[in-house]
Amino acid sequence: MTDGNNGGKLDLWVTETHKNLVSLGFRVERTLFSGTSAYQQVDVVETAGHGTLLLNDGIVMVSERDEFVYHEMIAHVPLFTIAEPKSVLIIGGGDGGTAREVLRHKSVERAVMVEIDEMVVDACKKHMPSLSCALDDPRLELIIDDGVKYAQNCTETFDAVLIDSTDPIGPAQPLFDRSFYKTIAGLLSENGVMISQSESPFYDTEIQNSMFSNQRPFFEKIHMYTFSTLTYPGGLWSFGFASNGLCPIRNFDPKRAEAPGMDMQYYNPAVHRAAFALPGFVTRGLTGL
Ligand code: SAM
Repeated sequence: MTDGNNGGKLDLWVTETHKNLVSLGFRVERTLFSGTSAYQQVDVVETAGHGTLLLNDGIVMVSERDEFVYHEMIAHVPLFTIAEPKSVLIIGGGDGGTAREVLRHKSVERAVMVEIDEMVVDACKKHMPSLSCALDDPRLELIIDDGVKYAQNCTETFDAVLIDSTDPIGPAQPLFDRSFYKTIAGLLSENGVMISQSESPFYDTEIQNSMFSNQRPFFEKIHMYTFSTLTYPGGLWSFGFASNGLCPIRNFDPKRAEAPGMDMQYYNPAVHRAAFALPGFVTRGLTGL
């Protein structure tokens, strides 16, 4: 956190620097929570223009101002493509935003969320209730554990596995490994889908190529889709959609997405389809999709 002088009033900014190339700063009104867990530094701050902001190890995870974009896109793109999704596994996602969107689907009977860091869950339950509001839903089982360990020992299958992870550093590093994707592929039901947080098309092409080539042996087809973000560097972010036979365009059911009660803030059928249209600089950079 840095401070400056704003006409006699102390000006506090929290700044995330990405790859020592670019910085993204948010003006902070006050700190709501700051703690160090066994895994990372966890901070929750109230900002001037972006609502409450969660940072893990100084990297922005979510802001109240734009969290709906990420969470609607990680959940609804797969769940409106799968015919009748009943079971969903979320790896990471400790703020609860992904679980909230998953549980809007009435067909979902069981969701399991495996978050390694209880401190993130507790801090978000207290300070970000608009995200964590569905964590008490009886259809959700919250497990505090390493997602890799959980997946290795899991004997259930799931219609969708959503990897809502931090960047590939620290405890999240193994979530980008070939062996992890192999394990996840083995947990998917026949027309199952794995969604993975796949970083910035502007800054992280190397990570994207590495993660998609690690997924490739276990899936018939991998697509990448993008969405805009206010709070991650570059303003454009992405998810990978990996499946064995299910196509996010051909199998997509727009009628369910337009059903009453399903009005979203970012996601809609046109956005769903358009998200898979990739700009030339993105497709040219990607190998192995
Ligand atoms: N939307 C976010 C982003 O892209 O920055 C991700 C948010 S969510 C808070 C990510 C969560 O993944 C973190 O709370 C972190 O503790 C969790 N995580 C990291 N590694 C994990 C692992 N091996 N198993 C389970 N959860 C993990």
